[in-house]
Amino acid sequence: HGPLSEVDPEVADAVEAELRRQQDTLEMIASENTAPVAVLQAQGSVLTNKYAEGYPGRRYYGGCEHVDRTEQLAVDRALDLFGAEHANVQPHSGAQANAAVLAALLSPGDVILGLDLAHGGHLTHGMRLNFSGKLYHALPYHVRAADHLVDMAEVARLAREHRPAMIIAGWSAYPRHLDFPAFRRIADEVGALLMVDMAHFAGLVAAGLHPSPVPHADVVTTTTHKTLGGPRGGIILSRQALAKKIDSAVFPGQQGGPLQHVIAAKAVALKLAASAEFRRRQQCTVDGARILARRLLQPDAVRSGIRVLTGGTDVHLVLVDLRESALDGRQAEDRLHSIGITLNRNAVPFDPRPPMVTSGLRIGTPALATRGFTEPDFTEVADIIAAALAPGYDAVVAERLGRRVAALAAAHPVYPAGSQWQLA
Ligand code: PLP
Repeated sequence: HGPLSEVDPEVADAVEAELRRQQDTLEMIASENTAPVAVLQAQGSVLTNKYAEGYPGRRYYGGCEHVDRTEQLAVDRALDLFGAEHANVQPHSGAQANAAVLAALLSPGDVILGLDLAHGGHLTHGMRLNFSGKLYHALPYHVRAADHLVDMAEVARLAREHRPAMIIAGWSAYPRHLDFPAFRRIADEVGALLMVDMAHFAGLVAAGLHPSPVPHADVVTTTTHKTLGGPRGGIILSRQALAKKIDSAVFPGQQGGPLQHVIAAKAVALKLAASAEFRRRQQCTVDGARILARRLLQPDAVRSGIRVLTGGTDVHLVLVDLRESALDGRQAEDRLHSIGITLNRNAVPFDPRPPMVTSGLRIGTPALATRGFTEPDFTEVADIIAAALAPGYDAVVAERLGRRVAALAAAHPVYPAGSQWQLA
């Protein structure tokens, strides 16, 4: 039972290589972040050994007194941070949080409305091959072709016509705020429940930089690892009246033993998310995305066919539309990858290219902001990205841009000196 490097050098080597990749490149996948050392320590702790089916004070196993404390801390901090009436912190992931809510509040065959996956929605909002599209009668709403904003007139029309049991608001790729009061009005008019999936923007909500869905929705789900910056996992917030149904849909409905090491790490992340430092980083996240959007709206980028969907951003990501560019999404992703910037190609609404190619890029700033990037750094990143997507890109340009990326990466260690996760 020695250290990882002795017990399993192959796994140790891959972990070390992944840490080096994170250190040497710029992570701009919008759903990713850099978990703080304290979160990693909680998640890598002995709490992983503990079975604790049930909830704090009501467990089906002995010896739960300490994990009761950490789970209760996570619950209390989630309630405080988001001003909710009830929190379940046990879902293993965002997808499981959504599955539990739908199982708790709907019957198979019920109608649900969700944003089309191809227009920025998530798999669990009714995609055909997902449980949400198979178990329920899922109808997609869309963004408008003219401005790429959610078509609330279509939401209202579909709601009146099909009388959904639940309307789902939330997204994986959308650069603007949603109109939660408008969703609430439509849900009330047709007697539907409103669920908001704030997985992407929960950190911004926690920092007060994005309208909160909590006062408007019956249920709010989130992941804890995106803008929120914690361990991988999910949380469900709800009104007290739905608490019992939701808790029993998570356990015993969907899950067995909760991941107490992850729940402790959620507690840590939620504590950090209430700090002034976290708020500052979230502001840098949004500022960074705005700088990126502004740079890609400059005339040189526009001339080469680059468009910014909705003309900018209010959140932590920018959606680049390459439908009029010589580059497709895959080529653009590959170019940026080759100079050390990691992001993902992404279908744009009404995309003429297949999903494996796409005509878009989704570029996110949370991981860089957590890493300490501020305005000058984001200005440099934006310039590098614009240059990489410009005509005239070749091996010489790539070499030069790669050096600029390396300099930025070296100036901002992902983990602080002296921590277990710092590279030698
Ligand atoms: N909900 C939204 C809006 C998401 O973007 C995601 C992840 O991308 C999820 C849920 C699912 O989270 P997880 O990957 O933890 O299952």
